[in-house]
Amino acid sequence: QERGYDMLDRSNELAAWDRDHFFHPSTHMGGHARGETPTRVVAGGEGVYITDTTGRKSLDAFAGLYCVNVGYGRQKIADAIAEQAKNLAYYHAYVGHGTEASITLSKMIIDRAPTGMSRVYFGLSGSDANETNIKLIWYYNNILGRPEKKKIISRWRGYHGSGVMTGSLTGLALFHNAFDLPRAPVLHTEAPYYFRRPDRSMSEEQFSQYCADKLEEMIIAEGPETIAAFIGEPILGTGGIVPPPKSYWQKIQTVLDKYDILLVADEVVTGFGRLGTMFGSDHYDMKPDVITIAKGLTSAYAPLSGTIVSNKIWQVLVQGSDQLGAIGHGWTYSAHPICAAAGIANLELIDELGIVENAGTTGAYFRSELEKAVSGHRNVGEVRGDGLMAAVEFVDDKDDRTFFDAGRKIGPQVASALLERGVIGRAMPQGDILGFAPPLCLTREEADIVVKAAADAIETVFKNI
Ligand code: PLP
Repeated sequence: QERGYDMLDRSNELAAWDRDHFFHPSTHMGGHARGETPTRVVAGGEGVYITDTTGRKSLDAFAGLYCVNVGYGRQKIADAIAEQAKNLAYYHAYVGHGTEASITLSKMIIDRAPTGMSRVYFGLSGSDANETNIKLIWYYNNILGRPEKKKIISRWRGYHGSGVMTGSLTGLALFHNAFDLPRAPVLHTEAPYYFRRPDRSMSEEQFSQYCADKLEEMIIAEGPETIAAFIGEPILGTGGIVPPPKSYWQKIQTVLDKYDILLVADEVVTGFGRLGTMFGSDHYDMKPDVITIAKGLTSAYAPLSGTIVSNKIWQVLVQGSDQLGAIGHGWTYSAHPICAAAGIANLELIDELGIVENAGTTGAYFRSELEKAVSGHRNVGEVRGDGLMAAVEFVDDKDDRTFFDAGRKIGPQVASALLERGVIGRAMPQGDILGFAPPLCLTREEADIVVKAAADAIETVFKNI
């Protein structure tokens, strides 16, 4: 009891410091500083639950930011980090240096990657890995003697990070507004958003063809000799958890092959099991030249990302250093041994626990229960997803699929109501969409808790609307 009071005082003190000193990412700055958005001081985690300093426990059905794939509190990863920190906290990876952890992890990644992949370059975040991708692609085309082939096409609603280049690749207005983004040479094409297709009579296949045709029109208008690469998440994540319509990736690939354009699969969310396969590229039968990995690589126990390059790319990079010398690209913390140790323990755990398979089976169960529970509601336009990713999109009018006025913040209201019921979902940044991406170790019982809370939250919010 006494400790409870201590913790409450401590929470208040931390909240005050937080409002005064902490510049939070993706946060309404004024609202936070004025105390309008409450500070939540998260103190612990076990399995799929987190607890805060007030003792409140929540089922985290978004796995942090879809990254804590093996769940919280895994002793094995904590031990691996501690052991590595004691033995060798750091050494760099420049000029051929490595550590047992970083070298072992590179082999483990390539062993699990789709066929044709050759090497992994390590970074720390999804954003920096995507920055690396674009630099390597530019370098690749320079070495091949086609310096004009540099433009990158991404998609509206894509999310690829928030650096200068990666924020440009991201196709969400919030990440562009007042930042002078996107910067050339980035172009955005149609999102494969079947629910919002231009003509409702289109089948999934027809809509996929429509997206591929739009891409081809853009390539022709710009000049195919100027387009270097197309980047996409296997399933759109932050843009609204939107799975590709049938044969989308095959139709896109046909266009890319026709104009000799590289494919970058941004697997920051889907890598290491989220869709019930080790990689989303395998799940949708994509043929990427470059793959971005991050979050699930360590289940966020330590920051680590990677750029996986195919044999085709690697051969040209080798040619490049034979011509130009050592590659002029590197971070101090590339292949940080503590992060690599976390990655090894995490990948071992993924195998030991069989959570890739669980993401497929429990994911299918979760999505079907969610659909049964909420799709009949008059303000639910669509329930969609794949593997352990799901979204509920809210509409003002079910038949016309009209949006609510953004100022009404319907998505955030539902997310708050859900939190009051002990479950964390995410109000996706564009549109009124409630997203779920729980840890991949989720059980059916835990899935039932999420579904019940979601149905209840939706019922309550819309009763007052
Ligand atoms: N790519 C995708 C698909 C992502 O979802 C994210 C983050 O959510 C990123 C890149 C950026 O990763 P980070 O936030 O680690 O920079």
